Amino acid sequence: MERKEKILELITQGHRNVKTLAQYFGVSLMTIYRDVRELEKEGRIVRKHGELLLREEAGDIAEEKTYSCAYCTKPIEKRLEFTYRLKRGRSIKACCAHCGLLLYKNIREEDIESCMTWDFINCKPLSCFSAWYVVGSSAMPCCSPSAIAFSSKEDAEKFAKGYGGVVMDFERAVEGIEQLMKRGTPVKIEF
Ligand SMILES: [Zn+2]
Ligand SMILES: [Zn+2]
Repeated sequence: MERKEKILELITQGHRNVKTLAQYFGVSLMTIYRDVRELEKEGRIVRKHGELLLREEAGDIAEEKTYSCAYCTKPIEKRLEFTYRLKRGRSIKACCAHCGLLLYKNIREEDIESCMTWDFINCKPLSCFSAWYVVGSSAMPCCSPSAIAFSSKEDAEKFAKGYGGVVMDFERAVEGIEQLMKRGTPVKIEF
């Protein structure tokens, strides 16, 4: 059997990384890398988080598109993604809460079905409308001035203690980020 075929077989048996495969065949890592890359090019396997998966196993993951932010056009990183789901199955995606909050006034409220983002601490999905935001902190995971979403107000407050910024609910954060944008530099916001 050709080594590449054997690799596919081994992957299904749970040998999911380059190192164990190299050990199995008693060849160098480089040799296995070359095979793996060829298999990838042929579209038969997918690499994900350092693991080798058959294309079929990877399913949608492999097809996952990279979206760009509707506000600033930056490519969207999953953990900061901020998505408005609209009626008729459409959605508007932003790269982070900063852009998501700025987009809000450009969308007709009656078109919005839901809005989703991720908790900055535990990475769990979170409704944008019930999230707490730390606006204008010195932490800039994406766009500046930054807005970061949390599910718990307590977490947001703790974060603001360390990194500055003001804790706000959705409505106030929409206004807050807009004001900061107008002023240019993140200074203290008073409400
Ligand atoms: Zn953006
Ligand atoms: Zn951003």
